[in-house]
Order: sequence, then C-alpha cells, then structure tokens
Amino acid sequence: MSADHERLAGLAERHATPFHVLDCSRLDDAANRLADVLGTLSRETRVYYSVKTNYLPFILRRLAARGMGADVVSGYEMDAALSAQFNPADIVFNGPVKTEEELAAAVRHGVRVHIDGRQEIAVLEQLAAEAGRPVEVGIRISPGVPVSTSSDPSYRAQAAAAALRNRFGWPAGSAELARIVGLIADSPHLRLTAVHAHLSSQIVHEELMLQAIGRVLDEAAQLHRRFGLREVNIGGGFGVPGIRRPRTGPLTALWAQQGGTPVQDEEPFLDIARLLPAVDELMERAGLDGVTLACEPGRWLVSDAMSLVTRVVSRKELPEARWLILDGGNNVAPWAGSGEVHRMEPIGRTYSSRTSTWSVSGPLCYENDIHASAVDLPDDTGPGDLMCLRDTGAYSLGRSNNFIRTRAAVVALDGDAETLVWRAETGTDVFLLADPWANPAAESTPPTAVSAPSAVIAAGTER
Ligand SMILES: *Cc1c(COP(=O)(O)O)cnc(C)c1O
Repeated sequence: MSADHERLAGLAERHATPFHVLDCSRLDDAANRLADVLGTLSRETRVYYSVKTNYLPFILRRLAARGMGADVVSGYEMDAALSAQFNPADIVFNGPVKTEEELAAAVRHGVRVHIDGRQEIAVLEQLAAEAGRPVEVGIRISPGVPVSTSSDPSYRAQAAAAALRNRFGWPAGSAELARIVGLIADSPHLRLTAVHAHLSSQIVHEELMLQAIGRVLDEAAQLHRRFGLREVNIGGGFGVPGIRRPRTGPLTALWAQQGGTPVQDEEPFLDIARLLPAVDELMERAGLDGVTLACEPGRWLVSDAMSLVTRVVSRKELPEARWLILDGGNNVAPWAGSGEVHRMEPIGRTYSSRTSTWSVSGPLCYENDIHASAVDLPDDTGPGDLMCLRDTGAYSLGRSNNFIRTRAAVVALDGDAETLVWRAETGTDVFLLADPWANPAAESTPPTAVSAPSAVIAAGTER
C-alpha cells in the first residue's frame, strides 16, 4: 500500500464515509506552478480564484493569504471572499444576474463589476453618482466560436451552434456589444477599464482556446485605444488531467447502435506553460501595451487537491451487469450523472491482481447515480472496501446537495496536521430550514402577517 493510500485509509477509521480529503500540498503546488508560469510573462499578471469552483473557506483563506484575488458570481460568494480576507480591490464580480443589493455592496466595498446585463449599467451609474466618485467597470465579451472539438462532426456542429447562442457576455464584433459599450461611455461616473471573457470549463484544446481568446483580444485592442484599459481577463476553464468527458454527438450514438466500435474518449489536458505565454504574445501583437493579463482559474488550482473517500456497501452480480455500490454518490460527487468519469482506486488493503469490468454506482435511489458504467477494478473488491475517487476538488462541495443523503465532511491534510474543515451535514441541519418559527432549534422570530402565508400563521397560533 502506498503511503498516500495508507493515510487515506487511516482517516476512514476516524471519519464516517463518504468524506472529502483536501491535500494542502497539492493546492500549494498548483498555486506555485501557476505563479511560476505567470512570472515568466512580459507583463503584469493577476489571478482571481474562481470561488464557485470550490468555496471551502479553508481554501479561500489559504489562497487569499498568498495574495490571490477572487472571482465571485453572487452576493454570498462576495461575502465569503471578503470574510476570507481577499483584498476587495482584488475581487471581481461576474455573472449574468447581479441584484441591485449585490451591486450596491460591490460599489461600497470597491469590488469591480464585470457588466453582463444592460440593466446593470443604470444601477451602477446611479450608485456611483450617489457615492460621488467614478467607478471602474469591466465588460464581458464572448468569442462566438467553440473551444471543444471531437472526431464526431455532429458534436462539432452542436458545439458551433452553442457558441453562437452563448448567453454570457456579448459577441465580439457585434452591434449589441457596441451599443452596450456606448451606454457605459455615456455614463458620467463609469470608467471602462477591463475586458472579461470566460469561455468554458475543462477546456483541453489549446489551439481552439487561443483562437477564441484572439477574437476577444481584437475587440479589447479597439476598446483599449478608445478607453485605455487596465486589464484583460481571459477567465478560467484550464483543463486538467484525470477527468474524461464525453464529447460525442448523435452520430456517435447512431454508429454505436449499428455495431461500430465506440469512439475512445480522449483525456487530454491543457498545458498552461504553453497557453499563457501564447496569450501574452497575442496581447503584444494586438497592441495591448501595458495592459495586465488576468485569469480566473478554478478547476486548475483545486482539482487534484481533493479526493472523495467512499466505502463499497454492496456487490451485485447480475446476468447482464456486475455492480459495486458505494456509499458516496451523485449528491456528494455531482459530476457523476453527467457522464464525466474520474479515476477510482480501491484502497485500504492489498487487492487481487486479477481485474474485471465493473459498473460503479452511488447509493441514491435514482437511475443516474452512476460513477462509471464500465471500469476495470480488482476481482475481489467487495463490501467494506474503501474506494477513493480522485480529482474531486472542482465542483464537488459547492454543487453537492442533500437529495436522499446529506452532504459529506471535508478533512484537510496540511503537513502532519489533520483538520476537519467542513463537518458532515446531518438531517437536523437540513430540516433547520423548515418553517423556522415552528422549529425550536432555529432562532428565528415569527414572520409578520405581511410576509407569511395566512395558513401557516393559523397553524402557528394553534400551538
Ligand atoms: C466558473 C468560472 C470560472 C472558473 O472555471 P474553471 O473551469 O473552474 O477554471 C472562471 N470565471 C468565471 C466567470 C466562471 O464563471
């Protein structure tokens, strides 16, 4: 057994499965590697960690302490970033919906807003006028070209259509974009200082990504000549190893139905040590002199820093399928069910060297709770064995839910220290949200007649 497996198995003696493990050395490694690459570029750079990718406060505090900025896409993420001590001037507020309250908070704290809806402009102008000072804003631009491809032409057609329909930002070179820019330019208190684009997640095709960024940079160069930009932000989405995503269209399905050999899913990943210098050079060529290159990595920083430790509960051998059923499912590993496959390792003892093909599922009572429909695992894997899922740091905790089972704990390993940094949710936690005024555990005051449905008031007064 490797030392890593031994340590994870040890944790399972002290924590109920399923639980997440955060390996701080891997988080630090990723942050260091990114800083090293950025350090080689010809211009100023800035990193905004994407809070939605993993909002664990322990992670936020650690990245903030390194001097990183934060990318937030809601008011409560902004609050989380502020309490984790990110410098407010190093927080950017993205996303297609920002309430007036959220925009007011952003202006109050000095958090820069990247405009992604026409309505934001008037609200921000009003807030800036009230504050009596100019407010810097950015604008989100979309390139209109796909950043993923496949050997299946029907997939490529779908990806191209989706890129044109993309609702985030305004298309580079479009009349809509020009109108929005005009509205910002006409707002006496707003200053357009940043261009923002975020293309997708788990992007693995460098060429396509550079083409897409190139379109954004052309637009940015024009805006730079007009307004003098301070920053171009290329977003996140840098693809990592260890994750397989289906990139197939209807043609693949037809082909498979007619007995063709299935297209092997590739598992490429992006090399940021090539990508970021190439972007730096594109910016140079576009005439974006003196403009900072910013990015918003999420997955790239946290993906391999977390693992999910689960236990095999049941082994079911049917005439048509052999199942291993785990105690951790889609609700704590939300990529399961979307077809994304992660590496899986049985740990905790020595296993047979003979393997067979298994289907692996979670415990939830619904069809899509499947980790893998065909994966090679040792023959003798069975109830009681520990199964570790890898590369689970991105879109796990924040997307987990309590459908059927409650959310899992997170244990952080930092050198020799082992700390519970997020406790497991209980059923009591879940039902704390129910009619709070009738719940003795909640400290809420009864609702007023204005906000409460009368039936509930009546039920309340009966007691
Ligand atoms: C989700 C998101 C990111 C991070 O994407 P990753 O794939 O996790 O790197 C960055 N910027 C914005 C605006 C996002 O919405």
